[in-house]
Amino acid sequence: MPSRGKLCNFDCIYCECGWNADGRADRHLPSAADVRSALEAKLRECSEAGVGIDSITFSGDGEPTLNPEFPRIVRDTLALRDRFFPDAAVSVLSNATMLDRDDVFEALCLVDNPILKLDAPTDELVAKINQPQGAYHVADVVRGMERFKGGFVLQTMFLRAPGFDSSSPEVLLPWMDIVRRLRPREVMVYTLDRPAPAEGLGKFTAPEMQALVQPLIDEGIKIQIKA
Ligand code: SF4
Repeated sequence: MPSRGKLCNFDCIYCECGWNADGRADRHLPSAADVRSALEAKLRECSEAGVGIDSITFSGDGEPTLNPEFPRIVRDTLALRDRFFPDAAVSVLSNATMLDRDDVFEALCLVDNPILKLDAPTDELVAKINQPQGAYHVADVVRGMERFKGGFVLQTMFLRAPGFDSSSPEVLLPWMDIVRRLRPREVMVYTLDRPAPAEGLGKFTAPEMQALVQPLIDEGIKIQIKA
């Protein structure tokens, strides 16, 4: 991702990086060679300093799979992890919009934790809170997620916003049906934690989220709740 700007094909109303329009000053994507050398230097430094590493996580100022060299960057990262910190996990936070690219899908299958976002169950609701910058169809994304055969973490933001409420039946019930269909190895439900660019957003408490997802927990789906 750009080191000073944001590059994403979503413009989520809760994005801690702000609006895409505010991050246009820097749209330079690092090359795979740049990432490899910077990561190698950092891992060597940590290793020599005796600093432990739990996870090397792709996240931050945008959508990592938009980098055209993402598959190679993943492979380089796994090789460096094996060399310096073989016990560390490699995790990728992604909005799951690039799953139709086989090389992206295959790279995500290689990492320990592919963490894939789905905040709302219909295109209309996604438009309200994620504001995709191009064509986006929940049905296509769900089909892409099905290819993991449950070997991924589904990440869903629970929030209240003008015209949107994660706890309303029109959002919650079809979202639960998608979870049942996908059976991800884990579902990560979280809520607002940092300042958001949009006004009028509301968060949920952990007990509220727990109550909302309890039917899925009762059906044996593992759910991590972060408030
Ligand atoms: S997908 Fe992530 S980086 Fe992109 S706008 Fe949404 S929260 Fe921000």
